[in-house]
Amino acid sequence: MKKVGIVGAGLAGLVTAALLAKRGNQVVIMERSPILGGRSHVISKNGFTMSYGAHAVLAPKQEPLRSIVRELELPMAYRKASLSKFKLLMNDKVISSPLGFGALTSPAITGLFNHMLCLKQFYRMVKQAPVFPQTMSVGQWIRDHVSNPEIAKVLSAYAALSVYDGALDLYSMNRFVELTAREYEKNEPLSYMGYDVLLEELQKAITKHGGSILCGKLISDLIVEAGQVKGVVCSGERVEFDEVVLNIPPKELSKLLSHPSLADEFAGYASQSAHYVFVYDLMLSKRLRGDIGNLLDLDGGFYVNDYGLNNPSSAPAGGQLLNGLKFLTEQEQLDDTHAKESQTRFEALLNKVYPGWDNYVVSKRIINRAMVNGIARRTNAKLLPLQSRAVRGLYLVGDSTEGSGALGMPCYDSAKKVADLLS
Ligand SMILES: Cc1cc2nc3c(=O)[nH]c(=O)nc-3n(C[C@H](O)[C@H](O)[C@H](O)COP(=O)(O)OP(=O)(O)OC[C@H]3O[C@@H](n4cnc5c(N)ncnc54)[C@H](O)[C@@H]3O)c2cc1C
Repeated sequence: MKKVGIVGAGLAGLVTAALLAKRGNQVVIMERSPILGGRSHVISKNGFTMSYGAHAVLAPKQEPLRSIVRELELPMAYRKASLSKFKLLMNDKVISSPLGFGALTSPAITGLFNHMLCLKQFYRMVKQAPVFPQTMSVGQWIRDHVSNPEIAKVLSAYAALSVYDGALDLYSMNRFVELTAREYEKNEPLSYMGYDVLLEELQKAITKHGGSILCGKLISDLIVEAGQVKGVVCSGERVEFDEVVLNIPPKELSKLLSHPSLADEFAGYASQSAHYVFVYDLMLSKRLRGDIGNLLDLDGGFYVNDYGLNNPSSAPAGGQLLNGLKFLTEQEQLDDTHAKESQTRFEALLNKVYPGWDNYVVSKRIINRAMVNGIARRTNAKLLPLQSRAVRGLYLVGDSTEGSGALGMPCYDSAKKVADLLS
């Protein structure tokens, strides 16, 4: 039985801990915050329940999530997103999207010939093998291959939504086609579930198999002796482990890299910036409309998820829970100067789509820059090794490690890989 210390109780840390505990290891998870879940932690307010970040489970029937759910016997009650409720906002009007049946009829594209062309380009974009030069971005591919501006706009919006990322010129085309071809082509690409349930079930799985979860534990250093990890430092005290798994984002990681060989190994990774979106969530006491599950604003770059509709247990009866995101440009990501304008523009969108919304506000949550993901998905990204080459017994998990998709997928992927390496 190995004694494994896991630093950080984000999605990846919790999944790793649950798998390792189930497989008979002695697991201790240490989280600096008083609550679990990291960027997937769950907020409950006025009868509404919503995760900070992870809203949609991507491809729940795909590996590795399927095996994780099976091995941990997690009750995953999820709800498939309805394509007929997936809409676009264009020229101030809500229209059907060119996905699914909308492929040949959506007003987003004019003329039958262009509809056919759009469909063809769409399939070309998502069905290719990932064999592009490392520096080829999605934005570049669209510019090189799609000359019709309407089609280019729709495909850019689709790609931006698929990767929650407005910066398509920084997003690798290889990563994108890997994601779409491998995860999205199957019949359940986007599903919703209560993350409160997932987090609770993961905690149960950890404690049921003898693992410990310690909150309010900030880890300030790693103990490395003769090239082998020996433990961590918490509140000035030495806590010994046979193996250590780090589930912490790049900026935090750099604070733990005082050991010279580690600093060299992770320098490129730790110095890279993450990617941010503007978030505007709205809890309403009245359901104003139920025909839109997901809305993509083609001109403004906003994406609205009717979370209460997609995940009914998250809103009280008759209420509506909207989650708005804005894909920020590279410039907007640098600081909060975009905040006022982003808020004004989002409220203008609400006025068009949900008129009268401001009469029913129970609560709002605005995050100027929420960290969606690390850097693994970018062109030229420096991907971490999951297992340190410089220090024996040190592993890394999280959404910034190499994963097979975007968003939370790398968390499941890296957690499973590290659990397999350690078992
Ligand atoms: C607005 C938004 C929307 C999103 N939508 C989706 C979605 O629809 N689907 C999806 O799958 N994903 C989505 N994501 C992404 C998903 O939330 C993240 O990929 C996932 O939560 C990241 O988990 P993680 O384990 O890698 O890291 P984190 O959640 O960042 O966990 C790291 C943990 O480490 C702790 N920590 C850091 N340093 C220390 C230290 N020194 N000592 C102890 N603890 C430490 C932190 O407190 C934190 O709890 C979204 C994210 C955002 C922000």
